[in-house]
Amino acid sequence: MKIAVIGTGYVGLVSGVCFSDFGHDVVCVDKDASKIATLKQGEVPIYEPGLDALMIKNVEAGRLSFTDDLTSAIDGAQAIFIAVGTPTRRGDGHADLTYVMAAAEEVAKLASDYVVIVTKSTVPVGTNRQVKQVVRKANPDLDFDVASNPEFLREGAAIDDFMKPDRVVVGVQNDRAADVMAEIYRPLFLRDFPIVTTDLESAEMIKYAANAFLATKITFINEIAALCERTGADIKQVSKGMGLDGRIGNKFLHAGPGYGGSCFPKDTKALARIGQEHAVPMQITETVIKVNEETKRRMIDKIFDLCDGQLSGKTVAILGVTFKPNTDDMRDAPSLTILPALIGAGAKVRVTDPQGQHEGTALLPGVQWSDNAYKAAQNADLVVILTEWNEFRALDLKRLARRMATPRMADLRNIYSAQDAKRAGFAAYDSIGRAAWT
Ligand code: NAD
Repeated sequence: MKIAVIGTGYVGLVSGVCFSDFGHDVVCVDKDASKIATLKQGEVPIYEPGLDALMIKNVEAGRLSFTDDLTSAIDGAQAIFIAVGTPTRRGDGHADLTYVMAAAEEVAKLASDYVVIVTKSTVPVGTNRQVKQVVRKANPDLDFDVASNPEFLREGAAIDDFMKPDRVVVGVQNDRAADVMAEIYRPLFLRDFPIVTTDLESAEMIKYAANAFLATKITFINEIAALCERTGADIKQVSKGMGLDGRIGNKFLHAGPGYGGSCFPKDTKALARIGQEHAVPMQITETVIKVNEETKRRMIDKIFDLCDGQLSGKTVAILGVTFKPNTDDMRDAPSLTILPALIGAGAKVRVTDPQGQHEGTALLPGVQWSDNAYKAAQNADLVVILTEWNEFRALDLKRLARRMATPRMADLRNIYSAQDAKRAGFAAYDSIGRAAWT
């Protein structure tokens, strides 16, 4: 089957590469000519482990190609996936559907044979019906169906998530579209991965409900962590004791500096907005958004407290700025709230991140970039672990402490313990949901 994928970001590129690995004939198209030029040279414009090798394999097998020309991309395609961005619209929190609708209209004007137009982007309930109207208006004679196929991959583990999903969700209006979608996902179906077929609205809702639920779980444990700090409980033990309950599960129970990334912040805001529009306030989600902002502020307070309330003239070394490890994605990362606050208070901020500098340079003006944790910590007054990259999990803490002007650590991912820090010669240590030692 020939498939076209519109948008070669994290989702579109991973989907296109994986569909071609299923054996389909895939053309990925993007408006960004520089991205396409990079891809044509066999290079991946984003950092996603394993993606380059799988991409090259399928290009060489003749199943995968890239273009900025939509006409040739969709020629003969039986399914066209829209995988463009749906960022938060300025001012009201709604998902901005401009890119989705523009792509749908462009497709409509160029398509001539039966095709299924599949929305992979995360879109509010009702969007697929709007896509249908837009296509119908732009090309009244076109024989087509729409389908909703939200994506659940996680950046950093995207290929495994796509190839071995917990489930695939497909929203359709008739068997004809369902058959095309079944054909696309047949390799997963044959390996017993569940395919959940629904109506359009339910598929759209599943994506927002799932993301809001996960954001709630993270935020819940972050709030419990704040209470642990005041009561003498240890959040690591609490999470373990909770997570072993099969009804709760141990995933997304790691306390940290607040969720970030390209999905949870915008999707929780969009769900809250959808609720408002339908006069069904999403009160839990609205609270989650608020508590997550407070969690990030709490991190700033911790940093101040470790520096005796005074950041002016102090040097702070930040380990990790991406919103999580194994990605270069900086969208809505907690670092974008925390670092400007430190700079604003007069701190000199030095940063190291295995993949974050390319994106981070423009987003974090005024910081100084270092090659590694030890260089960043040279003569620093405080080191802050903000993202749990593997290379920060096995630091030589003695070496780190020796380099610092005053060895203090804010471990916002609970990688180490007060005991580890004390043994290594640190003078103060704070983490999340555990007693600080200063
Ligand atoms: P992205 O911003 O990384 O990529 C979007 C791409 O679409 C860009 O390269 C852009 O140039 C291209 N584009 C926009 N309009 C176009 C058009 N008309 N024609 C051709 N190309 C066009 O976005 P992303 O992170 O891949 O996210 C895409 C969607 O998937 C969003 O709705 C997001 O919420 C959802 N999603 C993302 C993730 C994730 O982890 N990033 C996970 C699940 C779902």
